[in-house]
Amino acid sequence: MTTLTRADWEQRAKTVQIETRAFIHGEYTGAVSGETFDCISPVDGRLLGQVASCDLADAELAVRDARAVFESGVWSRLAPVKRKAVMIRFADLIDAHAEELALLETLDMGKPISDSLSVDVPAASSAIRWSGEAIDKIYDEVAATPHNELGLVTREPVGVVAAIVPWNFPLLMTCWKLGPALSTGNSVVLKPSEKSPLTAIRLAQLAIEAGIPAGVLNVLPGFGHTVGKALALHMDVDTLVFTGSTRIAKQLMIYAGESNMKRVWLEAGGKSPNIVFADAPDLQAAAEAAAGAIAFNQGEVCTAGSRLLVERSIKDQFVPMVVEAIKAWKPGNPLDPATNVGALVDTTQMNNVLSYIQAGHDDGAKLVAGGKRVLEETGGTYVEPTIFDGVDNAMRIAKEEIFGPVLSVIAFDSEEEAVAIANDTIYGLAAAVWTNNLSRAHLVGKALRAGSVWINQYDGGDMTAPFGGFKQSGNGRDKSLHAFDKYTELKATWIKL
Ligand code: NAD
Ligand code: MN
Repeated sequence: MTTLTRADWEQRAKTVQIETRAFIHGEYTGAVSGETFDCISPVDGRLLGQVASCDLADAELAVRDARAVFESGVWSRLAPVKRKAVMIRFADLIDAHAEELALLETLDMGKPISDSLSVDVPAASSAIRWSGEAIDKIYDEVAATPHNELGLVTREPVGVVAAIVPWNFPLLMTCWKLGPALSTGNSVVLKPSEKSPLTAIRLAQLAIEAGIPAGVLNVLPGFGHTVGKALALHMDVDTLVFTGSTRIAKQLMIYAGESNMKRVWLEAGGKSPNIVFADAPDLQAAAEAAAGAIAFNQGEVCTAGSRLLVERSIKDQFVPMVVEAIKAWKPGNPLDPATNVGALVDTTQMNNVLSYIQAGHDDGAKLVAGGKRVLEETGGTYVEPTIFDGVDNAMRIAKEEIFGPVLSVIAFDSEEEAVAIANDTIYGLAAAVWTNNLSRAHLVGKALRAGSVWINQYDGGDMTAPFGGFKQSGNGRDKSLHAFDKYTELKATWIKL
């Protein structure tokens, strides 16, 4: 995909233009207060820029503008076939700027440049393109009415959508929201994470270039407790869509209840079980997948396979295979195309992960791989992929979302016990099952309380399948046509003939 070397990327990192301002009504602008916050790269601790720190005043401006543009109809009432064309142009522009966006993402949040280029950017443009392509192929309904009535069941855009997104896949999570939100005709006020604002800020300009009218997409960088809270409490935001932690997700429901009862759609945390039965078709493939499920993206993945449930009869054989497989995942400079584990997003997150590793020791789990901070001399925040064996599901490292590369291995003796342990969590985002037994695959798959279930693989899926959580992993779904439900109101119109 790219022939750029580490030296090329480092050279580009020195010269890349970094836009740090908010984006309101088609223009970059500082925060009303003039405040900024430092954007520090976790790659090496270097200051990337000072980013506009938006708050209530900026939220007021952006929401007012988003509402006015929505009411004007310039986007909301545009023929779907025309919105489609603009969305496809937007996706093409994201692809055309792939290297620039990938570099910004890697510098800002520390993921390997190879992943930014091969995963984040193409999946982001695909989310925009897929949603755009769908919009002129969706039909409304006619109700089964008596002869002298006509009942129309139609979908309308909700109006002003506030989108609050996290830092682990900043561009991708943004585009999972923007694809269906914009395709259905809404105006959006986007708040990226204060830990990863750069790609969202850049994206706003590409939207304008694609032909999305000014004011339809506004971007407000800043903190959760300032601008995020202002949007969540805003009386003129119709729908709030969120990806982030369960703790903040719950708070957003309170804000909605305290304000205008805006619709709230939440994609939150996970503690996903990866269940390996003795009859797995290919233990080597299962071991490699288990390693990747916790090491990919430094374990900063909502669906990370952070609990590895292994049938006791194969545990002594299987765990060493996982320990061997995880050696292929080594922290290194994210700008090196050969690196597959980058830096954790910041010092706070690194210290949090290290404190969970300490908790694993304290609670009596047995460290069998990793366990340390590395590459400290770089000024960056790197932690080795880490495996604890002998974990009990009640330990902190098995119960709490670590959001880092720390794997808990838990033994089980029967199918029933595997399901019971897997479901013994407040979360319900994803789960995987490795077995050669067709009936067991389906029966365990049905018994798992999770929004995504993978059989004999980890982390399958694309834009065609819905993504989201059961229980405290959230509500509603991103991706697929099901995502459109979040961005539209359903209207029944009765006509007396
Ligand atoms: P976070 O909840 O700390 O922050 C998410 C966003 O919410 C950020 O933009 C933040 O600024 C904002 N925020 C924080 N406090 C706020 C407040 N009081 N009001 C309004 N906004 C506020 O989460 P994070 O650390 O950025 O991301 C990690 C979390 O995201 C993990 O729990 C992970 O599982 C989850 N995640 C879930 C999915 C999914 O699809 N289910 C995908 C990726 C990440
Ligand atoms: Mn950052």
